[in-house]
Amino acid sequence: TEPLVELRDVKVHFPIKSGLLVDRTVGYVYAVDGVSLSINAGETYGLVGESGCGKSTLGRGLLRLVEPTDGEIVFDGIDVRSLKGESLRRARRRMQMIFQDPLSSLDPRQSVESLLVEGLKAHGLADDKAATGKRLRETLEAVGLPASALRKYPHEFSGGQRQRIGIARALVLNPELIVADEPVSALDVSIQAQVLNLLEDLQNERGLTYLIIAHDLAVVRHIADTVGVMYLGGLVEEASSDDLYREPMHPYTRALMSAVPVPDPLVEDRRERILLAGDLPSPTNPPAGCRFHTRCPWAQPTRCADERPALRDVLGGHRVACHYAEEIAAGRIRPHEVEP
Ligand code: SF4
Repeated sequence: TEPLVELRDVKVHFPIKSGLLVDRTVGYVYAVDGVSLSINAGETYGLVGESGCGKSTLGRGLLRLVEPTDGEIVFDGIDVRSLKGESLRRARRRMQMIFQDPLSSLDPRQSVESLLVEGLKAHGLADDKAATGKRLRETLEAVGLPASALRKYPHEFSGGQRQRIGIARALVLNPELIVADEPVSALDVSIQAQVLNLLEDLQNERGLTYLIIAHDLAVVRHIADTVGVMYLGGLVEEASSDDLYREPMHPYTRALMSAVPVPDPLVEDRRERILLAGDLPSPTNPPAGCRFHTRCPWAQPTRCADERPALRDVLGGHRVACHYAEEIAAGRIRPHEVEP
């Protein structure tokens, strides 16, 4: 399979403006700071990390909903960052986004029909009334909603149904890539699986490619082929979903996984417990060297504080940004207490 999406050293830095001196930049939020990854056509890439790690900004940067500061974004061979006007609009039809909270991203005064037609109109695809009507009904059917939903308003639906409308809105444009930012985190756990299953079915039927962004590792575990973990604007680990969950190698990923609650209280939890010291450092002033060194129980003097580790292939496609990934995996370096 060919990569449909390729990001090379993508950076999104937001300037912080001084309130006193007009238009003077006093610093930057290093929201995304050099991320490279690729997503094959028809695959699902799960991007996980705590809030503030830059994962949503990366998803928006890929679609140019925020402007990247640096790096390359290639979609189906097209240099996305160089697109303007009509060519950007054409590319945007092929790359759609689904948002976290379906209620806040849908205009409550618009009927479902007008919400769906809006996107078609923006791309000049709503000229033929009969064809549009057919397209809307087919799209609703694909997401498991009846045609009668067209005349209703977002507040008349449950949370899960509203997310189906959000998916229909993306789907009606017949995209190839869907970036889903926390698509199920606003939903009850019982509904989450239904929506994830729907996304999976749609992928199988239509050959869609997904970038699914989530703070919850459990959400992407089964749906993602590849999982990337972000910390403070950088990708710290990437592997096939199976490999990542079987053997997380980066200390941050290990800490994240050790924090996942055990679903069955009768099953003894034998996993390691890694408690992270201190808070997430500010992305305006990220630590030098390895960005995780201020909280890493395995950090070694002085390399971890001096040298930023590159994401490198440690084991058959399992990529880790840690100087000591092999030593830690083999138990040759033991974790120590971190002073908060
Ligand atoms: Fe920890 Fe050092 Fe590895 Fe960073 S490079 S994760 S500080 S051991």
